[in-house]
Amino acid sequence: MSETTQKYDVIVIGAGPAGYIAAIRSAQLGLKTACIDNWCNQKGKPSLGGAYINAGSIPALVLLESSKLYHLLNHDIENHGISVDNVSIDLPKMIQRKDLTVEHLSQQIKDLFKQYQVELIHAYGHVLDSNRVEVTKISNKSQYIIYAENIILATGSKPIDVPYAEIDNEFIFDSNSALNFDAIPKRLGIIGAGIIGFELGGIWSRLGSEVIILEAQENFLTTPDFEISKEAHRIYSEQGLDIRLGARVISAKKGSKKVTVEYQDQDGGHTLRLDKLIVATGRKPNTENLAAPEAGLTLDESGYVHVDENCMTTLPGVYAIGDLTLLGPMLAHKGLEEGVFVAEHISNSHSPINYNIIPSVIYTDPEIAWVGQTEQALKAIGENIKVAVFPLHLTARAQATNKTDGLVKIIAHAETDIILGVHILGANASELIAEAVVAMEFSATSEDLARTIHAHPTLSEAIQEAALSLSNRALHMPSED
Ligand code: NAD
Repeated sequence: MSETTQKYDVIVIGAGPAGYIAAIRSAQLGLKTACIDNWCNQKGKPSLGGAYINAGSIPALVLLESSKLYHLLNHDIENHGISVDNVSIDLPKMIQRKDLTVEHLSQQIKDLFKQYQVELIHAYGHVLDSNRVEVTKISNKSQYIIYAENIILATGSKPIDVPYAEIDNEFIFDSNSALNFDAIPKRLGIIGAGIIGFELGGIWSRLGSEVIILEAQENFLTTPDFEISKEAHRIYSEQGLDIRLGARVISAKKGSKKVTVEYQDQDGGHTLRLDKLIVATGRKPNTENLAAPEAGLTLDESGYVHVDENCMTTLPGVYAIGDLTLLGPMLAHKGLEEGVFVAEHISNSHSPINYNIIPSVIYTDPEIAWVGQTEQALKAIGENIKVAVFPLHLTARAQATNKTDGLVKIIAHAETDIILGVHILGANASELIAEAVVAMEFSATSEDLARTIHAHPTLSEAIQEAALSLSNRALHMPSED
């Protein structure tokens, strides 16, 4: 294999949200930067943005929006005094809009690379040691070695395969391929009611599928606050999602026209015949063959890269960020922030990441968003807390827009009044949560939120009202007498 004289300050492997941001920030800081990425679009050309932009959250968000409009036109529009006849779906066109959005966002990264002079290498990157990366070009499989002072690993994650449901992309799909159906399935099964299963289920259900979600755990959505999950379960079940808890799938077999799924719950074994099945049982880090065994990169038994608090791996000068590590949750914005951090760490201009204040969002309708700790986690450690809930339907904006489902829950320390967690279920929760994130980043008290003027009428008033409610002075809350 040829050894080139190509030397960089930084080589980034992976151009997902963590990697492309690490590359751009490195280049902004004056570091000579290359970014290696192996993602191919349908034409075999590079498509930057990783799974997140090409197959994950961005495509899901595009179809979520289309599905919400279709559902509105079919179900709720008459409430506005508007009648619409013959609403129909052109699925290929809907999917084309998704693909175009992906193309634009990916091109945007390419343009930024050009502007900041990040060298893009469409190839597979394999770490040989602290300073050398073996490159295998996608176009012609040619191989060569390049050098850098620092290497940033950002190869992301992929869906976990399960032995009992083999992906064939005809009847059985993973989350990467579940947004490219050629027709709307009449009866769709999903294994796993985690964030991905739930987001995908909502989209296809609003587009008209009968959706059955099979979840092995007894509880629905275990990461948000329990009160939010309980209310979400009620709302989404009412919308028509058939969520079966304590239902462990043991096999999925495709026939000539259907897929047959067997699962077990407390009542015994059950069989379902479905048109399509999505496997959404989790993701795992992309670390297979990432580094030569003799390089000495330490992984844990699940394949996550071992890093210290500075995202530094066991190889000096080699960092790992995003979904590759267990430092913080598997979220795009966590990876993105780590990309900035690592580039600045290399340039000695970094400030630490606050892993305690990372917002989480579930993109459904209504949305779920939270930051900080849940009531159940705080109670489990015996924290002295106060809790208040404000239902969205009491705000003028929710009533005016007919988006009354949901609530805001705020948790503060009982003595210091410092906000410990904010949890929102409702329209625009993903945007509303930013206020709570900023407040918590500044160690605000609930009184700070209660005394902050919020525009009227907006949904954000529910956050202020929840804060007021902690001292029993919510203004639009009926009195308990
Ligand atoms: P997950 O681990 O959150 O959920 C998988 C679910 O599948 C679990 O609840 C598990 O109990 C269930 N399951 C596993 N085997 C089963 C079986 N045989 N039968 C029935 N149920 C079974 O994984 P995910 O939803 O795939 O998400 C992966 C990661 O990606 C998460 O960390 C998530 O936070 C992240 N993600 C986040 C977003 C977002 O922020 N909006 C979007 C996409 C992905």
